[in-house]
Amino acid sequence: DLLVVGSANADLVIGVERRPAAGETVLGSDLAVHPGGKGANQAVAAARLGARTALLARVGDDAYGRLLLDAQRAAGVDTVGVLVGGAPTGVALITVDPSGDNSIVVSPGANGRLTPEDVRAAGSLFHASRVVSTQLEIPLETVVEVVRALGPDSRFVLNPSPPRPLPRQVLDACDPLIVNEHEARVILGGAAVGDRPEDWARLLLAKGPRSVVVTLGAEGALVASADGVARIAPVAVDAVDTTGAGDAFTAALAWRLGTGSPLTEAAGYAARVGALAVTRPGAQESFPTAAEVAAL
Ligand code: ADP
Repeated sequence: DLLVVGSANADLVIGVERRPAAGETVLGSDLAVHPGGKGANQAVAAARLGARTALLARVGDDAYGRLLLDAQRAAGVDTVGVLVGGAPTGVALITVDPSGDNSIVVSPGANGRLTPEDVRAAGSLFHASRVVSTQLEIPLETVVEVVRALGPDSRFVLNPSPPRPLPRQVLDACDPLIVNEHEARVILGGAAVGDRPEDWARLLLAKGPRSVVVTLGAEGALVASADGVARIAPVAVDAVDTTGAGDAFTAALAWRLGTGSPLTEAAGYAARVGALAVTRPGAQESFPTAAEVAAL
């Protein structure tokens, strides 16, 4: 079973001709509201593939919190670990211009109130999970407590997004640490790391993780462990919207690892899931079922 510990946000999206300057008002399109946040996205992606999935997260006692809970339940996620209250639900205010560029303001809200104490109180969810997957849209001290709460047989998967330098006990627990190029550079501390993903992977491994996965968008991915470095071939698709591809990839990988797949095999499966997720618009709406992956 998979436990995702992470964020849940309502994504509020408005299309604009151009962004307002300070003091200015512009008119935009109708508002679209989508369930999002990396933790919530991962949980939905895994459940849609058929994984038994639970989410440990915090939302506000408000309409967006209910929308997020409904989306989790509709996907089949166990929501006993979704705590309610303490602050408004996390929100991302997103404007998209005609060229598709977006500008985003995130209010973490209740995500920032998911505490180490909440993790300690969720002990039974940890005991029931072979794999625990986390990101960094919740407080770092909470992620540290997740590492402490891991059972002796449970595996820890981290996508450090948004990236920041990580303490050694978190890095040491990762199996794997999953990063894109930007995240790799931040975790490596802005050192001169060159342009070869193989080099980033080796440098990251030297920081403590048992394994590392570097995602490379349309170029596929790369896995690195004590066994060496291997390329995961990209799956050729017509990309429509890459939102959530990384979350779908991470969720699929975590689930496959929990079923006993070796890392390279799990990453190959995850690359197919990520590829399918970019062929459809949106995040949670774009995640494929296992049947769709099998048909690819
Ligand atoms: P992030 O969103 O975290 O930056 P990526 O863009 O690297 O993550 O996407 C995660 C994974 O999804 C990639 O490693 C790849 O397997 C798959 N993927 C993403 N974009 C594409 C694409 N355009 N074509 C095929 N696969 C893709």
